[in-house]
Amino acid sequence: MRELADVRAAGHDHAPAPPATGLVLDVGGGHDPHPRADVVVDKYLADDFERGGSLNLSKPVVIADAQALPFADGTFSYVVASHVLEHATDPRRFAAEFARVAPRGFVQVPSRESELTFGWPFHPWLIDRDGDVLVFEPRGDQRAPTGELFHESYQSSALFRLWWAATRSTWHHSIEWEGEIQVRVAGDSAADATATLDVERTVTELRIAAERGALQPLPPALQAALCSPCCGGGLALDGEHATCGRCGTSYPVIGGVPILLEEARQPAVA
Ligand SMILES: [Zn+2]
Repeated sequence: MRELADVRAAGHDHAPAPPATGLVLDVGGGHDPHPRADVVVDKYLADDFERGGSLNLSKPVVIADAQALPFADGTFSYVVASHVLEHATDPRRFAAEFARVAPRGFVQVPSRESELTFGWPFHPWLIDRDGDVLVFEPRGDQRAPTGELFHESYQSSALFRLWWAATRSTWHHSIEWEGEIQVRVAGDSAADATATLDVERTVTELRIAAERGALQPLPPALQAALCSPCCGGGLALDGEHATCGRCGTSYPVIGGVPILLEEARQPAVA
């Protein structure tokens, strides 16, 4: 059956191809980190716990915002960003951060067709592909007209999933980039609904995970590459704190997981 061959070919076209060597960053892959990832950056850890406890902690985690990645320039050989760029309020800034920390990587976003067929309230954009350029258009009031129908069909029907997989390029734009991700953004946009960040809950959930022995230690090479989102200064990890060597600002570290968010910063001690 030709469609089965299409499924296999599309699966290959839409999968990251990281190099065999070097450090690999997975941004936003909290539920299903790429097997080659050395670290996962996620912002809404507590929200993931809330959504069904399926957060995958098999990889070291750093809590951070993809728009201010807490790693030195060129730390990684490759960055995987699967279904994260479409959440950005500023896709240019996201893309610039990926290019700052790695020379190449993989980005995958839902297409305009996917957004208008399935639809997700936390995506502010309709995204087209023009060659290797991702073109972001504010979604405005355009919504999937059949509500949850296609999400439900995807869940309930193996044949529907097979058809979807055979026509994957209609639904996903997947780009292997080198140098930079090219993005064109036509205006500003904001999502209907976003996850809310709760630093206290993030701390609590991390403590519970640490007590269970569920957290993976950050490899020494990555500890050395950490820098602060406040000023880009190098961070020194010391017990439950990561302190910026440049400005003295510090951030909580729970069970070895640094929370390097603006919202979690503790001012320098005079
Ligand atoms: Zn600083």
